[in-house]
Amino acid sequence: MAEKVEITKVLVTGATGFIAGHVIRQLQQNCINVRGTIRSNNDAKERDLLEKLCIDPSKPFELVEADVLNTDDWESAVEGCSHVIHLASPTDGFWKEEEGEMTEQAVQGTINILKACSTAGVKRVILTSSVLAVSSFKKSSTYSEKDWTDINEGTAYSKSKIQAEKAAWQFLKDVESDEIFELVSINPGFVLGPYFTNSPGCSVAVIADVLMNKNSRVPHIALPVCDVRDVAKAHVNALSCPEAAHNRHIIVSDFVFCDKIGKILASEFKSQGYNPTTAVASRPFLKFLSFFDSSLRNTTASWGIKPNVDTTRMREVLKITPISVDKTIIDMAYSLIQKGFLPEKLKFRAPEDLPVKDN
Ligand code: NDP
Repeated sequence: MAEKVEITKVLVTGATGFIAGHVIRQLQQNCINVRGTIRSNNDAKERDLLEKLCIDPSKPFELVEADVLNTDDWESAVEGCSHVIHLASPTDGFWKEEEGEMTEQAVQGTINILKACSTAGVKRVILTSSVLAVSSFKKSSTYSEKDWTDINEGTAYSKSKIQAEKAAWQFLKDVESDEIFELVSINPGFVLGPYFTNSPGCSVAVIADVLMNKNSRVPHIALPVCDVRDVAKAHVNALSCPEAAHNRHIIVSDFVFCDKIGKILASEFKSQGYNPTTAVASRPFLKFLSFFDSSLRNTTASWGIKPNVDTTRMREVLKITPISVDKTIIDMAYSLIQKGFLPEKLKFRAPEDLPVKDN
């Protein structure tokens, strides 16, 4: 078993992201020195937000400019860091079918960062993969970290995550050196929860659309939901947990049907003037539409299926007892209203313990 290694400084790639914000905040709360990477250091709004996360003046937060595709950026970015959390990856084609440049960016970006880590003597790298690299969940079986998604299945985004994670494990095998770092992969489900970054990322649409009744009906498909605070804690605990080394870790609270998400939102927000979608769409109708819109094919293939995942490693190795799905969804909706991403209805009552402020 690997030994516990002292953490001197942690590099967090893609510091402006939804998950990264929570990771940085928890690292600071644990008195760990953090350096974040940002694509453009001229972005004052992003810089201000990140500086507000870092409340401990004895642990100043550093921000450096780096693009995953630019090999020259990474040598100096990782210098002096004992640990790296690699979150930066393209997420803007989440629902798209065509691969485009997503896979190239995800794979090449990961390799560029791992190369810099091995040269700089980084001790451990935490790679943020996805549960979509475990399975596309088209059967109601129980899946575990031993499973890998068939590369021919899924969206452009899931293919980019499968290939980036495979490339990372292969990199580790190919490097002929005793000095190589330990690799840990975190494979979160669909990440929801309090949102405090400036631009709405790929996770926001589902909760926003259901709360605002964008479509009068939702498909009867189950999403593998997890809470961003648990995902952040998994990354932080993975830095020092010896048993995590060279292993994958699924982070999922539960599989939740989209109509159940509507019902959870309705229980909290109906009395506040919102009308969340709770009705289920017709499968034959969506199947018909999928002949014209290929992105709907995955939806109809997973219809009504509630798979299971083995979360033993999440609970026993990373010591995560997941936050309830109801709290995750409700806290996310409140944070989206408070951030101004969604309108505040006249009857809206902000809770006293605002999810954006207290986490
Ligand atoms: P966000 O979209 O909020 O953040 C993505 C981050 O990656 C941003 O900081 C973005 O920078 C950065 N990034 C993208 N492309 C590049 C690039 N070429 N060079 C440098 N930085 C880049 O995503 P999340 O926080 O949701 O996701 C973070 C990680 O977690 C990703 O790897 C994602 O695949 C993974 N994940 C997310 C899940 C989810 O449900 N949200 C589920 C499972 C895994 P910029 O601000 O400049 O665009």
